[in-house]
Amino acid sequence: MITTRLVILGPPGSGKGTRAKIIGRVYGIPVVTTGDMLREAVSEGTELGRLAEAYMKRGELVRDDIVIGIVEERFSKPDVEEGFVLDGFPRSVKQAEALDRILVKMGIALDIVLNVTARSETILGRLSLRRSCPKCGAVYHIKDMPPKQEGICDECGSPLVQRDDDKEEIILHRLEVYRDQTVPILERYKKAGKVKEISGELEIDQIIDEVKRVLGGV
Ligand code: AMP
Repeated sequence: MITTRLVILGPPGSGKGTRAKIIGRVYGIPVVTTGDMLREAVSEGTELGRLAEAYMKRGELVRDDIVIGIVEERFSKPDVEEGFVLDGFPRSVKQAEALDRILVKMGIALDIVLNVTARSETILGRLSLRRSCPKCGAVYHIKDMPPKQEGICDECGSPLVQRDDDKEEIILHRLEVYRDQTVPILERYKKAGKVKEISGELEIDQIIDEVKRVLGGV
């Protein structure tokens, strides 16, 4: 059976967003990325964006009730029934419990939790040299994955930016937040026998091979 309902976990900069997008493409399933949803709300200046912005700038988690609300709303759409990749959610025990409730209500269960691991040097190098497209969410790396034209998004032509929370002192805080608030849910999923490890250190072709090996099918 092809595994299609999954959560991808890993510290900021581990490469989980890249892997989530690849899995979505290979398996033809929607990728639900809470960070992108929140950034979009901030750039559109919505009520949600105004609530989330200060937390995000500081590298803190946005309040559980706010993030759970946006995931609940996204999961009320029918396209996730056949499969999804959740990227960036859950990030706290409260969020993991809320996800259990949402899935039980839908009559489905998580198939697998992918845990992306990477060395600290990889994480810091990746985040400090990362540039992001504020419009379409595409992500680049100045050295390893530069855009075709310097400073411009290949996908939509917008000027690239360094996210405020990709600056060094905020990166360090995000890593602490990950350790304190997100690692406990990894333990919870491990106890439930759901976790498989994947490497955050591979090149793009190897990522696809590894993902297919771990998830099966296609
Ligand atoms: P990311 O792009 O996943 O690193 O998320 C960027 C920022 O968005 C995080 O540092 C948080 O401030 C916020 N965020 C994203 N997902 C969540 C979540 N599930 N819970 C709380 N805050 C989140």
